[in-house]
Amino acid sequence: MTAPRIEADLHKIERNTRILVDRLSAVGIRVTGITKAALGSPGIGAAMLRGGASGLGDSRVPNLARLAGSDTSSRRTLIRSPMLSQVAHVVGVADVSLNTESVVLDALDRAASGQRRTHGIVLMVELGDLREGIAPDDVSEAVRAVLGHPSLRLVGLGGNLACQNGVVPDDRNMGVLTALVDTVEVRHHISLDVVSGGNSANLGWALATHEIGRVDELRLGEAILLGVDPLYRTPIPGLHTDAFSLVAEVIEVAVKPARPWGDRAQAAYGEPPARTGTGTVRQAILAIGHQDVDLDGLQPPAGITILGMSSDHLVVDHGDHAMAVGDEIDFGVGYGALVRAMTSPFVTKVEQAGRHVPPAEPRSRPRPDPSVQRDRPVLRSS
Ligand SMILES: *Cc1c(COP(=O)(O)O)cnc(C)c1O
Repeated sequence: MTAPRIEADLHKIERNTRILVDRLSAVGIRVTGITKAALGSPGIGAAMLRGGASGLGDSRVPNLARLAGSDTSSRRTLIRSPMLSQVAHVVGVADVSLNTESVVLDALDRAASGQRRTHGIVLMVELGDLREGIAPDDVSEAVRAVLGHPSLRLVGLGGNLACQNGVVPDDRNMGVLTALVDTVEVRHHISLDVVSGGNSANLGWALATHEIGRVDELRLGEAILLGVDPLYRTPIPGLHTDAFSLVAEVIEVAVKPARPWGDRAQAAYGEPPARTGTGTVRQAILAIGHQDVDLDGLQPPAGITILGMSSDHLVVDHGDHAMAVGDEIDFGVGYGALVRAMTSPFVTKVEQAGRHVPPAEPRSRPRPDPSVQRDRPVLRSS
């Protein structure tokens, strides 16, 4: 098989979705599966829908177009405010978009009317993380604007925390969203279909709070795909944390001195990695680099240590593992590594139906834990 490649186990993604859908439905919350970290893969979207997601969302219009090409029945949401330059595409591929700007609402209304469609709007409210969102005091005016547009339909209100400044969802900030929903419904004599509470960072709150309020939907990407809570990057009990793995091929194996020699300045990516050992290391080079993957959360098998990465080379100490040119090594990925690998044209994407396996012991980020058991071989011979 070609390398490098990212392998996705669709069965594990479906299982992760199912478990989260079941836990959240007990508190009245639906799940929109977010595919942006998987480049809008139709196969991964379908696995989320099989797992019980009530719709799919993505931040990128081309990804939504991919999803639209394979499945026309489920609701698709653009989860980033549309660019003015792409509103016509947006109404073509998304049923709903998250919005904050009145000038964009005007343009969406014109585009939808031109295509004889109705486009759904979720207005995003600023709850303290200082990324997208309308100030709570201005929401009523935005609602009036949506209601005044004949080709727009106000679907609901939403919030997003944790992404920009790490603000943790709690009863106080989520309570602001609920109070606004109540106010808007009374003031404008409407009822809202969707109160979209947030992303994977809302899971801990949603499953523990006694004040779920009006929140009835979460937009989940990372929790489904990687089985971790993004607030602390801790594994979510019962979920698979190894639905994805990245496979890279060895191109050089040599015993080399532990320390470089000669005068030293910057390396290809700034400060060179510290090489403090003495004697020699059993070094292998893999044909993968920053053009293919981010080091964030890249987790080698137990007994293998990453020594450094440049654009095209990943250098590891392979320790006691036997290693030959042509061998493949399996890595676990974190969010940054997953996104880079999925969006790199150099990395082949392989989706496998998978088989039923219980979750392995949680594999947490960012430090590799040598005690963790993986449920597939880490080394493969060519
Ligand atoms: C990325 C994103 C999500 C999903 O975030 P995860 O942490 O992957 O669950 C939800 N909502 C918005 C607005 C996003 O940008």
